Amino acid sequence: MNPNIPWKTRGNGAIALQVGIGNGEKIKIGEIDGKDVFSSKLLRQEPNGKEYTEIRKIVKKTIEENAKTDDENTNPGFVLLNKQPELNVYRNTVRQIVSLDKIKSLLNNLKADFQGYKNCRGLIGATSAIAWVPIKDKTFELISYRQQKNWGTKRDVNEESVQKMDNSCKTTFDNYDYKNKHNRLVPNSPCPILYGVRGDAIEELMRAFSIVRSESVDSWILFETNQGTDDHLQRKIISNIQRYESVIVEGSVVKSPYTIEGGHVIFTIKDATGTIDCAAYEPTKEFRNIVRELQMGDIVEVYGGVRKKPLTINVEKINIKYLTKIVEKIENPICPNCGKHMKSKGSNQGFKCKICGRKSDEPLIREKKRLIHIGFYEVPVCARRHLSKPLKRIK
Ligand code: ZN
Repeated sequence: MNPNIPWKTRGNGAIALQVGIGNGEKIKIGEIDGKDVFSSKLLRQEPNGKEYTEIRKIVKKTIEENAKTDDENTNPGFVLLNKQPELNVYRNTVRQIVSLDKIKSLLNNLKADFQGYKNCRGLIGATSAIAWVPIKDKTFELISYRQQKNWGTKRDVNEESVQKMDNSCKTTFDNYDYKNKHNRLVPNSPCPILYGVRGDAIEELMRAFSIVRSESVDSWILFETNQGTDDHLQRKIISNIQRYESVIVEGSVVKSPYTIEGGHVIFTIKDATGTIDCAAYEPTKEFRNIVRELQMGDIVEVYGGVRKKPLTINVEKINIKYLTKIVEKIENPICPNCGKHMKSKGSNQGFKCKICGRKSDEPLIREKKRLIHIGFYEVPVCARRHLSKPLKRIK
């Protein structure tokens, strides 16, 4: 879901399951209570009335027993639908602001069976998850779960094995931040998840799972996801940028980067329609050093979420398209008659040879070496958003 919404529910994610009797090819996607879990490619038969009632009971019970509803930002909901809503429902929910009223009226029109808890905003995500179809892109995440007796305690996931996995499973991503020593597989919350490995290929996620060493795994399951797809981003001109959207916008740098309190680095870009501030916040760590090297006149394509006040793009990645030439004076000009350096006549007054009196306006200059190059730069793994497409998936 749209990661910029300030009033988003706690997890800001949603899960959809298609339930029925499968047909044709099936693959193993997990293990729960020691039993294999399979997913079928085709649906042979939808649940009958009795099965439906049973499924509904399980969903309701699972949410009511497990949701952390004492957390102010946990507002779950579930939706049972026998018809998929239009893809646009998903697209709007990942990119814009969608009101609960709109979702509720859609659910009523579709004759959906649904229930929301507390402020009910979880219904927005639940509906949108059902509407999701991975048309352009998708990834997978293998999530392993902890034994219940360990919930809330420190997770034991061996970092060395995570690094080994990261190095040998090339289609996985956002595993480990070597510079900031951050194991990205492991969540921060006291939730039942032990770790999650994200990647492009199911076989490699299975291999990753066999490499990572950890406390004993209670169960695991493979999800199809929109993580790492940039689904939240939309290409915009500056004057059309709205708060809480995520955008791709091209412009030239019109205000050099400067650092504000807290270590955040800000710069300003401009296109034919306006100007907007862009920020690399402190948690983006070494990415700020790249941003600090930008100069007025550089042309960049900025990817990121839009903060409301002041309207600022929180940069997730940047594509540098043109680097302006910066020249610097290295020394005074040499007199062609005498072969000696001329003397400066004062600031901006030119130069004069002390021996023969010859004048020159031009000091010897050289092009200053830029420390950044044309192309993409992204925030480090430790600061990456779930939806952001890592550069290793773009190349
Ligand atoms: Zn001279």
